[in-house]
Amino acid sequence: MRELHMSTTKAAAGQRPGQAAREFDGRVAIITGSTSGIGLGIAEALAARGAAVLLNGFGDAAAIEEICERLRSAYGVPVGYHAADMAQAGQIEDMVAHATAQFGPVDILVNNAGIQHVAAIEEFPPAKWDAIIAINLSAVFHATRAVLGGMKARRWGRVVNIASAHGLIGSPFKGAYVAAKHGVVGFTKVTALEAAEFGVTCNAVCPGYVWTPLVAGQVAAQAAAHGLSEAEVTRKVFLAEQPSRRFADVTEVAAAVTYLCSAGAGSVTGISLPVDGGWTAH
Ligand code: NAD
Repeated sequence: MRELHMSTTKAAAGQRPGQAAREFDGRVAIITGSTSGIGLGIAEALAARGAAVLLNGFGDAAAIEEICERLRSAYGVPVGYHAADMAQAGQIEDMVAHATAQFGPVDILVNNAGIQHVAAIEEFPPAKWDAIIAINLSAVFHATRAVLGGMKARRWGRVVNIASAHGLIGSPFKGAYVAAKHGVVGFTKVTALEAAEFGVTCNAVCPGYVWTPLVAGQVAAQAAAHGLSEAEVTRKVFLAEQPSRRFADVTEVAAAVTYLCSAGAGSVTGISLPVDGGWTAH
């Protein structure tokens, strides 16, 4: 009842005159790592459904402002940006404080920022290990820690962690990434258990290969390393394990996140939802 009352009043606050109510009108969302790829797709999907969104990530300042302006004018929602480095706990706290000051308390947190490095364990640079654990795993803790108390107090919240198929299975040469993403899946369960009776859900989405700048860079690098064309490396290396034999689309990951943030997913918590063309069904 309380949840229904809250969504009704917040919806009224965010709705544009003459426009039908949208699912996330009046909600405030932070999406980390949303200047590119999957995060940007998620930010756009949430904005399209009425949420005020705070973008985060690296990139050219003018290009980021262009993205903000495009989302504002396309969807009529407040859109902001914070440059927090997800490797820095203090900057993550600043980002949450900034979102709250600009738009109001955070209702939806999507922990998406991530980096990758591929090397055999004995050649894996320790600094890369530390960076991957910090950005892909510890940042999820720091951001969740900063929003969870408020969500529980207001008795509504959605935390969605973008893990990976590599949160469920391993692959050689991706030690830090696989460790971090398995950690995210575990932390998702703990967050879900602690928050469940407060109307707050926490779930992980586990994409297989999705066509984004991160993957485009890996395809080019692997093609050069193996002396293969990009088409060959795509077929033989990247999509060999993905039964759909195609890259997932950013919009397919965003659709999973949108569902998990919806009212209808109120009893779905602690899960890891593969969006991987059947990869982890093996
Ligand atoms: P991407 O490289 O296109 O985007 C990554 C985003 O994170 C960018 O906005 C970048 O600026 C930001 N970022 C990187 N380091 C950061 C830092 N220290 N602080 C703040 N922001 C930072 O990557 P993507 O493919 O869209 O990946 C997004 C997420 O999805 C990652 O967590 C990744 O592990 C996960 N994922 C991707 C795939 C895939 O195939 N693309 C598959 C499974 C999981």
